[in-house]
Amino acid sequence: MRILFSSIVITLFSLGLMISSALAEDIETYEVGSSNLNVRSSPSHSAPIIGELQKGDQIRVFEENAFGWVKTYFGGEEAWVASQYLSKQSSTTAATTTTGQEDQVTIIDNDVRVRTGPSTDHGIIKQVSKNSTYPIVNQSNDWVEVKLDDGSTGWIAMWLTDMNGESASISTPIVEQSKNTSSLSGANIVIDPGHGGVDPGAIGLNNILEKDMTMTTANVVAQKLRDAGATVIMTRDNDYYVSLENRTQVSRDYNTDVFISLHYNAHSAHNVGGIETHYYTGGNSYELAKEVQAELDSSTPLRGRGIQQSAFQVIRENNAPSILVELGFITNPNELAFIQTQEYQNNVANGIVEGIRHYFAQ
Ligand SMILES: [Zn+2]
Repeated sequence: MRILFSSIVITLFSLGLMISSALAEDIETYEVGSSNLNVRSSPSHSAPIIGELQKGDQIRVFEENAFGWVKTYFGGEEAWVASQYLSKQSSTTAATTTTGQEDQVTIIDNDVRVRTGPSTDHGIIKQVSKNSTYPIVNQSNDWVEVKLDDGSTGWIAMWLTDMNGESASISTPIVEQSKNTSSLSGANIVIDPGHGGVDPGAIGLNNILEKDMTMTTANVVAQKLRDAGATVIMTRDNDYYVSLENRTQVSRDYNTDVFISLHYNAHSAHNVGGIETHYYTGGNSYELAKEVQAELDSSTPLRGRGIQQSAFQVIRENNAPSILVELGFITNPNELAFIQTQEYQNNVANGIVEGIRHYFAQ
């Protein structure tokens, strides 16, 4: 990790990535007005069909986009339905509903954390077990507030729940493979490829530049996270300079659940090697660091150097749970030989994705 201190004219850049801010404030119940209405994995008529609704079915809607699609959840997966075939029934933000039946969530993962507020920054109240159900009392972005057995309330990440409860009857079970491991659907993950443009980062053997390796890795990691259902935001997507301040600003601009900065290491002694993960604050960032480092230890052939507390700006000035990973030494000939293979890049990406899964499942 090499930080560039000199003042540089920053080229204005635009992320080209926009997340819909049209989040519904209330959970609405809609009734299906046509038979055989398709449920799709994203808001498009060309998106894969993941279920079917029948006339008279009711679904809970968490978001309506500008193009006539509404978002619901099933089995922890985001699901979209064309709104033209739906009619609005009632608002169910309050605990009581017009049907007299409370809306509820079903927990779909083991030991899911219940928090004091609607993000992973909030403290953990308790853990709840798989298949338990709780009445919904409120909703904020991708989080729901539920009433616990003792009468108190707490917040749960929507992607760890089945939101449809018994009032929906989506007839087709959703993608089998997502049942084995928790889906990352609904999670906003910022991937930060270290350095870029005039800032090359570390310079390795054979003039391999850290900024190029971090970009390569970021693309592989982003693809695997998207395959797992996450929304991925990159702080850069090509070889240009982005200030450290702008990198943390990207994290603040989105409802970021996890921020991961990717780096490669360097040392004047060519035999120094290994993978290490840095975190700044205890709690969530520490837990994230622990999980990701553990998975990288098992998914890659490189030595594990463990986790450590560090004050790198991108993780220090970050509101989201954030870590910085050093994925090996480009000054170590043995490690560089690994690092430059597609297999190593896949191993690293798998390790990071699994680490994030474990972190969310806690
Ligand atoms: Zn670096």
